[in-house]
Amino acid sequence: MRAMVLEVPGQPLVERELPEPKAGPGQVLLRVRACGVCRTDLHVVDGELPDPKLPVVPGHQVVGVTSEGRRLGVPWLGWACGECRYCTSGRENLCDSARFTGYTLDGGYAEWVVADLRFCLAIPRAYDDVRAAPLLCAGLIGYRALRLAGDGERLGLYGFGSSAHIVAQVARWQGRRVFAFTRPGDEGAQAFARQLGAVWAGGSDERPPEELDAAILFAPVGELVPAALGVLAKGGTVVAGGIHMSDIPGFPYELLWGERSVRSVANLTRVDGREFLELAPRVPVRADVETLPLSEANDALERLRSGRVRGSVVLVPGP
Ligand SMILES: [Zn+2]
Ligand SMILES: [Zn+2]
Repeated sequence: MRAMVLEVPGQPLVERELPEPKAGPGQVLLRVRACGVCRTDLHVVDGELPDPKLPVVPGHQVVGVTSEGRRLGVPWLGWACGECRYCTSGRENLCDSARFTGYTLDGGYAEWVVADLRFCLAIPRAYDDVRAAPLLCAGLIGYRALRLAGDGERLGLYGFGSSAHIVAQVARWQGRRVFAFTRPGDEGAQAFARQLGAVWAGGSDERPPEELDAAILFAPVGELVPAALGVLAKGGTVVAGGIHMSDIPGFPYELLWGERSVRSVANLTRVDGREFLELAPRVPVRADVETLPLSEANDALERLRSGRVRGSVVLVPGP
């Protein structure tokens, strides 16, 4: 099968002809129909995450079909032990020996993928393959971040990309008001955010017209932590939504005082996945999607890196 493979972190992916993978016990072989591109893929490719499987096929927003025609999604959490203190307390996202699709397991930048059936998610019928793909990470990790942000009405989203454009739709549906922060001067992204119902959009260096109850950071920029704390009302929460972030600079305690908090969101549980995929068609969440052929995965990553993507990018294997 054809696959885009990471052989050396920091180098572009290379197109390779690999043997078709074989499903082991409890696994399922899927023909890949679509695979979303996530910022985490960039962190894997750039070598910012420790100890990837090498070589590895990236991609963890995989929509595929079994030989019987059953359509399944393969998300980031590919396997958890089921026995550790995290797994047995509803926190399999924190499992010490978890394996991750497209990082420590081969993912969906390929024509075929093998996945543990217990960790696959059913794709709602309302979505075609391409539009379902971004729900599998941008959507459901965004949803987990939104839950951890609490119930506050005024929600800030820093970095208005794949995840934020989905979370904004869910947040509005829940009756919240969304404030979007983009790279300073990125008027295209600000207009996009307003289109999706943000009541205010501006640069991450600007102050919104009122204090916020929570903020989710999707941009992997440590400086945004004190910036976001600085616009929160008392009791507010900053949630860091990415797996990797540049160092957070020192900041005065006053920014945290008043019961403000900073936390991260890590991975997902299968419960998050089922909950979100049940919710998405009710909102209904519509991902703004651009498709590229699988062989152009490096282009897709480069466009994500330089912020030239509106919504989500999805790779599709050739005919
Ligand atoms: Zn475990
Ligand atoms: Zn992801």
